[in-house]
Amino acid sequence: MESRVDRQLRALALAKACAACGARVRTIGHLTGLPPREVLRLLFPDRMAVPRGRSPDSPEWYHGANLLHRAEASIVVALFRRLRDADFHAGEALVGAYRHYLGICQPPHRISFDRAFDLAAHTDGLWLTDARSFSLVTCPTCHSEFLAAYGSVALSNDHCPFCKLVQRYGTDPRVQGAFPAWPLAVPSCEQMGMLVLLRRATGTSTTQAAASSTGERRP
Ligand SMILES: [Zn+2]
Repeated sequence: MESRVDRQLRALALAKACAACGARVRTIGHLTGLPPREVLRLLFPDRMAVPRGRSPDSPEWYHGANLLHRAEASIVVALFRRLRDADFHAGEALVGAYRHYLGICQPPHRISFDRAFDLAAHTDGLWLTDARSFSLVTCPTCHSEFLAAYGSVALSNDHCPFCKLVQRYGTDPRVQGAFPAWPLAVPSCEQMGMLVLLRRATGTSTTQAAASSTGERRP
């Protein structure tokens, strides 16, 4: 069983990780159980650096947010859900999901840590509220998971932000910037070496060997 000291150390480590993600004092307090005064004293010795502003209110915000915000919000909550399903403690799952989101989405990141906290809270009924305002549903067309009003069932892709982004991709530079297409991989030296060996073994040209190794039909 976890001792009191272990619990305290775990709360402090989590508080530090939250602060590094840009969390507000109030959010860190909810996630760790540490008193706000303690959070301020330990993590924000420079009071000028304390994150300020109105706390997010996601149930109202999400349904009026633009597509990129809705897509990124859905990505964060889907990552959070995966870690929760793998039995991670809720606070640690949130930090893990948020870090993963920062790694896979292009800056500028549209979802702040406080927003991610608020979205997760209103999806699972945690920390701030017992009431759930969102469900994570699966799009029947693209199979992506996205946030929808609690209790919704996705019968079509009408509300799927990812399907809409795909439709807009060709004409909207903002969408292209947020989800850039990666160039096709150039064959590595090892792969080229394999092709040369294959050619020698079968007596075919490198082009034919490349075509057959990628499943293309030879002329
Ligand atoms: Zn979709």
